[in-house]
Amino acid sequence: MRVENKRCCDKGYTGIDVFRLVAALLVITIHTSPLAGLSGTADFILTRIVARVAVPFFFVTSGFFLISRYNYQTAKLCAFVRKTALVYAAAIALYIPVNLYNGYFRMDYLLPNLIKDIVFDGTLYHLWYLPASIMGGAIAWGLVRKLDYRKAFAAGAALYLVGLFGDSYYGTLEHVPVCSSFYALIFQASDYTRNGIFFAPVFFIMGGFIADKGDSGENRGESGSVNKCEIVREQSGCRTSKSVRTASEKTVSGKAVSGKKAWMTGVCFGLMLALMLVEGLALHHFQVQRHDSMYVFLPPCVYFLFLVLLQFRGKRSVWLRDLSLIVYLIHPMMIVVIRMAAKVLRLQGLLVDNSVVHFLSVTSVSVAFGAAAVALWGRFGRKPKKRDTSTDRAYIELNLENLAHNVAVLRKAMPPKCELMAVVKAEAYGHGMCETAVQLDKLGVRAFAVATIDEGIRLRRCGVRGEVLILGYTAPERAWELRRYDLAQTLIDYAYACRLHERGYRVKVHVKIDTGMHRLGFDAGCHIEEIMDVFAMEHFNVNGIYTHLCAADSLDEEDVLFTKQQIADFYSVLRRLKKEGIRIPKIHIQSSYGLLNYPELKCSYVRAGIALYGVLSSPGARTRLQLDLRPVLSLKAKVVLLRFVPKGETVGYGRTFVADRDSVIAILPVGYADGFPRSLSNRGSYVLINGGWAPVVGRICMDQLAVDVTDIPGVEVGMTATLIGYDGGEEIAAPVVADESGSITNELLSRMGSRLGHMY
Ligand SMILES: *Cc1c(COP(=O)(O)O)cnc(C)c1O
Repeated sequence: MRVENKRCCDKGYTGIDVFRLVAALLVITIHTSPLAGLSGTADFILTRIVARVAVPFFFVTSGFFLISRYNYQTAKLCAFVRKTALVYAAAIALYIPVNLYNGYFRMDYLLPNLIKDIVFDGTLYHLWYLPASIMGGAIAWGLVRKLDYRKAFAAGAALYLVGLFGDSYYGTLEHVPVCSSFYALIFQASDYTRNGIFFAPVFFIMGGFIADKGDSGENRGESGSVNKCEIVREQSGCRTSKSVRTASEKTVSGKAVSGKKAWMTGVCFGLMLALMLVEGLALHHFQVQRHDSMYVFLPPCVYFLFLVLLQFRGKRSVWLRDLSLIVYLIHPMMIVVIRMAAKVLRLQGLLVDNSVVHFLSVTSVSVAFGAAAVALWGRFGRKPKKRDTSTDRAYIELNLENLAHNVAVLRKAMPPKCELMAVVKAEAYGHGMCETAVQLDKLGVRAFAVATIDEGIRLRRCGVRGEVLILGYTAPERAWELRRYDLAQTLIDYAYACRLHERGYRVKVHVKIDTGMHRLGFDAGCHIEEIMDVFAMEHFNVNGIYTHLCAADSLDEEDVLFTKQQIADFYSVLRRLKKEGIRIPKIHIQSSYGLLNYPELKCSYVRAGIALYGVLSSPGARTRLQLDLRPVLSLKAKVVLLRFVPKGETVGYGRTFVADRDSVIAILPVGYADGFPRSLSNRGSYVLINGGWAPVVGRICMDQLAVDVTDIPGVEVGMTATLIGYDGGEEIAAPVVADESGSITNELLSRMGSRLGHMY
């Protein structure tokens, strides 16, 4: 049995993993001042300026994995909050002895102070990071969900600014009465403005922004807002084409110069670090600092640092993450331990007073402790892996390498500047919508098409970014959901456009033009004014205009003529709109066969469905372009029972199969309810078992079917049968099965999977 569970593109973020540990060590320097014995200035530069990148780096990292403009799984935030809170609770408990020793519980106003410390300051000096993480993460999550990145970042930056004047720049506003009383109020609740409200959010937002920007260097959020401006400009009638060009140039050049960009980010990081050094030293010199955590150049410095680190991809090192967390949490304890040990051993002069040795000993003990804890946890603490039950019965096996291959092949076949819009409706044609789309997202696909709004919402909940176009009808009452989940709706005609617009929500739309399919769309022949009207509707962002070909799969002369007319009619609509001064948005015409038979068409998207999954609709279809597409899906089932059926007995409903010899029958737990068509009964179809062809016998039931394995030696219970796909050197192709059942591959595949497990 060939099992494909290798994942492609699953590279780890090595640079980030390694820097986690570096950042933890930087935090140790803050608390041990290794250079204090050498020079006050050197110590200040290291611990009060350079090391300040550490905690923001952790925030950006958390944001990178947590925040997304397109993440609608509140469960993800909850899991983050729960996990951080758990670590925090454990850390509080761990440090109670230290607190006791310090006389913490004997202070005045214990309860209010305790609350203040738990919420903001941490019950020991370094623990503030954990509540700040929870609060900052939640605030950033909320801001990004409600606003676009630009506004969310502005809000985060404003908070940071408020924090700045309560921290490094405190001296500049200290004597302005309004400000000083404002900050006095803040300092009643929190010792510093370096906390979860003023400090952390901007870094979390930054992390999310970097993640959503994706690896392709292209920024959907930004080009989306360019679109908005376009419409405003459209109406005021001033130059429009220029900014369109800049938007597309940006994406193209972003890809071309990525090598150059790599060292440019390095240079930017160096520059920002230098500026932060100057800033910190100047503030120190003029003594305006109340505290020294927040600098103007800290956010840009950390931003570029993170971009630099992102470029180092390779092995995934989860243990480094755990190690750095433990080192971070445990090092104050180790400072106490080292001091006590020094006292007992009478080595204070070396271990405590020599700042370098002190730092090194705290670091090595912390790292050793952390490494031991990680190793022990790895050995004893991990829960046993859950057994994968998805392949116990019948299942769909997906070859993700073939999916990636098909994406590459299709992209190569498309004209330059044309993007792949992956059609993932109907559970991605039975392949499993979420998993397929997430995989495509990783491959850099940033446009998806679905049939219904609920499919679109589910895509967002799986964290899929980019344009999600609903090809079918959505009730206008659900306009708010289109807005909330940032889905693009097809306008199926003028009356529908008006009803949707009346709801008053700003939604993205694509205008569909009917050029002969006569299903959905504005009539291409007449009423250009109606289409123009849509472009002028203030609540709409018209992101696209498209048509659908209805005979693109055929190369018969008549069909080709008809298709060419469809294409001409569509372009003619575009020309007329352009003449009326309307800026043409993204255009798309071709589905899979459209690309295969009319590959030269100018367009912004190709809406590929069936070809993406590596099959054609019917066996032996002739197409102008012959692409090396590879099937992604196989259908498999386990043999659950072998049964001896004597000559003359029958098998199954209606007794349609009569054994003409003593036979061995294998029962497979898959039936028409799983998507294996009942119409294949008694049609001479086969499945592959143990490298041999086993004919399907009797009628296919809802949940099982029977095959004759009399002529195949060595078949055993538990063996895997292939109903669609490869086994050894043989193949049962989906288009052939579809054809035998009297249908096309699209129907066969899209009906599959409601009850089947998926295996990748
Ligand atoms: C389903 C669909 C597609 C995808 O078609 P394939 O032939 O599977 O590539 C494209 N466009 C529209 C409008 C569709 O409904």
